[in-house]
Amino acid sequence: MRIAIIGAGFGGMAAAYDLKKAGHDVTIYESANYVGGLASGFKESHWDWSVEKFYHHWFQSDREMLGLIKELGFEGKVLFPRPLTVMYHNGKFYPFDSILRALLFPGLGFGLDKIRFGFVGLYLRLTNNWKALEKMTADSWMMKWAGRNVYEKMWKPLLVGKFGPFYRDVNMAWMWARIKARTTRLGTFQGGFQRFADLFAARLRDLGIEIRLGARVESIRPEQGKLVVRSDGSSEAFDKVLVTTAPNLMAKLTPDLPENYLKGLLELKSMGAVVMVLSLKHQLSNEGYYWFNLPKEAGYPFLALVEHTNFVPKEHFGGDHIVYAGDYLEAGHEYFSLSDEELLERFIPAFKKFNPAFERDWVKKVWVFKTNYAQPVPLVNHSKNIPTIQTPIEGLYFASMSQVYPWDRGTNFAVEIGRRAARMMK
Ligand SMILES: Cc1cc2nc3c(=O)[nH]c(=O)nc-3n(C[C@H](O)[C@H](O)[C@H](O)COP(=O)(O)OP(=O)(O)OC[C@H]3O[C@@H](n4cnc5c(N)ncnc54)[C@H](O)[C@@H]3O)c2cc1C
Repeated sequence: MRIAIIGAGFGGMAAAYDLKKAGHDVTIYESANYVGGLASGFKESHWDWSVEKFYHHWFQSDREMLGLIKELGFEGKVLFPRPLTVMYHNGKFYPFDSILRALLFPGLGFGLDKIRFGFVGLYLRLTNNWKALEKMTADSWMMKWAGRNVYEKMWKPLLVGKFGPFYRDVNMAWMWARIKARTTRLGTFQGGFQRFADLFAARLRDLGIEIRLGARVESIRPEQGKLVVRSDGSSEAFDKVLVTTAPNLMAKLTPDLPENYLKGLLELKSMGAVVMVLSLKHQLSNEGYYWFNLPKEAGYPFLALVEHTNFVPKEHFGGDHIVYAGDYLEAGHEYFSLSDEELLERFIPAFKKFNPAFERDWVKKVWVFKTNYAQPVPLVNHSKNIPTIQTPIEGLYFASMSQVYPWDRGTNFAVEIGRRAARMMK
């Protein structure tokens, strides 16, 4: 069969790999000039490693991704350091990445709240019954079982940070998935995620897959038993097509889909993200903390501060210290329209809160990355609203972050759904 895949993110590339190995003729269309999609990175000339545009790491539970890496023979290039994640409480940060550290965290006191926090965490880690959990919002479930205090101190800031105005609507299965599939050791690839994406793409090309970079697909239409992909003014016919874009883009590309499928695509909610990457002359966190969880009500202009070089040594970046300041935001938020300089003005004053010695002249360079599609928002009973991978159009398939539910989006699940789609197409 002649197969087209739209998107050279990890989902599209994983599907291409399996389809080619099954003997099909595969072409990937990618609108960007690079592979890797949302997990792609960039590199300064004096850096050995790339930096992900949006902070990325793997968990030790990311079986699909680690399995694929092993299959490709790159397992020796995966590193799993144990960087420090911290929680905010009354103007201070406390390490929060083990049971012992959770027990010592003063934010919940040392009485009943801590016990409730522990039991709820343990229950969520042990249960597999996410179907029951998706019937309730995380807000109401946590209020009931963890109690107001624990919910407001620990879980609500996470929901508000990730989902902004939708925080009360997110279902409890999302929270379950986050707690279930996470580890304290965090992984990366030698050279950065972009290095892995490039090695994977090189392997795909060696197998005979054509990857067309800078090739934006404009439409996919059924014609005489084939699917015609139109890109840059020319058209080509394929037997099957897999689309891995955001759902709203899928709807634009394929207007021939029946109305109820299109409606399902357009009704899916998601949050965007705005992430600033800074290279600094000095280390920001004297304590060497990697990930700072920041509650919105503490007044920070962003949700997370991530000092990448407290995870990956600064030597890979010519001695530069790399820091991310990022937020999940609904479409139309003013951060999407601010210039990089304007955004820096908003963010800079907060840096002193992480290190009082911070001065503006520590900043060597700034990059800002924005995406409208960063985090799907799963509402109550979301499993009923997920678009099927096999669409009602013969030969047309769709696999995106919005369909990996009940799991939260991630490159691991992009690989899983890409390979699942490939199995269905075969
Ligand atoms: C802020 C942020 C933090 C994240 N953190 C992590 C993390 O720590 N760990 C982790 O594993 N995951 C993380 N993720 C999620 C991860 O990046 C995604 O789950 C994964 O990259 C999705 O892969 P994909 O192939 O499904 O989609 P994408 O990577 O979005 O790939 C889709 C591709 O389609 C292309 N495309 C779109 N339209 C067209 C068109 N018309 N024609 C041709 N090509 C087109 C796009 O350019 C893109 O390359 C994070 C994401 C964000 C936004």
